[in-house]
Amino acid sequence: MSSDQDYDVLVVGGGPVGLLLAAELRIARVRALVLERLPEPSPHSKAFGLHARSLESLDRRGLLKRFKEGARSWNNGHFAGLDVWVDFSTLDSAHGYALLSEQARTERLLEERAVEVGAEIRRGHEVTAARQDADGVELDVTGPDGPYTLRAKYLVGCDGGRSLVRKAAGIAFPGTGGRVTARLGDVKLADPENAPMGMERTARGLLFCVPLDDTYHRVATFDFEQGKEPGSELALDELTASLREIWGDDLGARDARWLSWFTDSACQADRYREGRILLAGDAAHTHFPVGGQGLNLGLQDALNLGWKLAATVHGWAAEGLLDSYDRERQEPARRVLANTRAQIALMNPDPYVTELRELFTDLMRKDQVNRHLAEMLSGVTVRYRLPGPEHRLLGDFARDLELRTADGKSTLPEYLKRGTGLLLDLAARPELARVHEEWAEGVSWGGRVRHVVAECDQEPGLAGLLVRPDGYVAWAADRDASAEELRDGLREALARWFGTV
Ligand SMILES: Cc1cc2nc3c(=O)[nH]c(=O)nc-3n(C[C@H](O)[C@H](O)[C@H](O)COP(=O)(O)OP(=O)(O)OC[C@H]3O[C@@H](n4cnc5c(N)ncnc54)[C@H](O)[C@@H]3O)c2cc1C
Repeated sequence: MSSDQDYDVLVVGGGPVGLLLAAELRIARVRALVLERLPEPSPHSKAFGLHARSLESLDRRGLLKRFKEGARSWNNGHFAGLDVWVDFSTLDSAHGYALLSEQARTERLLEERAVEVGAEIRRGHEVTAARQDADGVELDVTGPDGPYTLRAKYLVGCDGGRSLVRKAAGIAFPGTGGRVTARLGDVKLADPENAPMGMERTARGLLFCVPLDDTYHRVATFDFEQGKEPGSELALDELTASLREIWGDDLGARDARWLSWFTDSACQADRYREGRILLAGDAAHTHFPVGGQGLNLGLQDALNLGWKLAATVHGWAAEGLLDSYDRERQEPARRVLANTRAQIALMNPDPYVTELRELFTDLMRKDQVNRHLAEMLSGVTVRYRLPGPEHRLLGDFARDLELRTADGKSTLPEYLKRGTGLLLDLAARPELARVHEEWAEGVSWGGRVRHVVAECDQEPGLAGLLVRPDGYVAWAADRDASAEELRDGLREALARWFGTV
């Protein structure tokens, strides 16, 4: 099986990020193929939950309802396992909570979506080599029927922390090495009723223990002293020995259905693009999974990259659009790596850290501090530094505005479901309609940006808002802006983000 660019984009890795990216590319009419080495989806879940920014984004694709169906949500999160909860209900978001969606379920729903919109997913197909030339990319793949080669215009490595694509592209992955070793097992416990709950810091490290269902618990030890040989497997004996060492008792852990280990190594690709090869998700950044942020971070990479890569494939991307992916997404990952390192420092069993924890716990009782942490963990403070006329909303995530249009009541997320941009005209200023019309006449497919005239009581001072497909504000102007300011600002923003051809 070999072909010459049957696909526009090859996505290596069918984890949550690769699956969402494939769906994003498909709704932008790009021919995308996902290659996943596992023959079947993994039944084991690393991640447990989705945070506010992910939920807001899923809502903007019409997917939130299916994610919420039958799933529990909760208002609390933790920071470094400290005794005061981080309260997500204080967030300035329509979704100030965390949704309990185990990774296996999240992946199933994302795969369902990718397939619905026409993405092709090949399971049991392992990519063994990747290269690029001036015209495209090429992959060596080993599938159930043997090896074959594939070509496409672009390649995205969503192939996790050990990314083959990242290495093949020659992208460096600098960061801090692992000093803490986490040993994890989904196990049955001898006395589940009396098992410790949550996180317990001891003189030797940390114990993590939560029920998964009526039968199984997830237990983990965070060992600050004893590492593991890279590449070695974790056995149940080793986990129980670590439980005894760190907790003083192995909780009668038995019948492990999943064992895994990882470290607090925190690394980030020094660039997310090399020519026709891009990286997203864990392939671009890895860190200790404390605070439940990695998957959420990766989903935002996919949402930022999908429409930009589609515009590039279709040939209408303005110069620099694809490079803005790296520019915008490096910073949020840097911040997540930093806060996970800070949490690890606070978890250290060293007695000197105890007082730092007490001080930090006290600080967390202050609303402002607690809210700061909630915003940080849930990703809602991500704001891009975008060019254009200054405005308080520029680069921020567009809120769930309630709108009245000629067709009745609606909300802003409704208009982003198809993955296009949105020009919200809130003062019926003729300049906006005219600029949009002129722009749409000049481009091959004016449907890239929907023009909607509406009234909005929540933003009485706003004249217009241009929202990118990923939900971020590309341009905004107030009612007191002159006709010229409106025209020039909007023209420039449409050209920058949605092209001129
Ligand atoms: C214990 C634990 C708990 C976590 N909890 C949370 C949490 O609560 N919240 C959160 O947001 N994050 C959490 N994370 C992090 C989260 O699991 C990852 O960030 C997330 O899985 C990254 O998704 P991804 O799609 O980028 O990569 P992955 O999930 O690693 O998927 C990569 C895929 O690529 C495939 N692949 C790799 N190489 C090849 C190849 N050569 N050819 C073909 N296919 C290939 C793999 O089989 C895999 O399916 C946790 C992580 C751990 C370890």
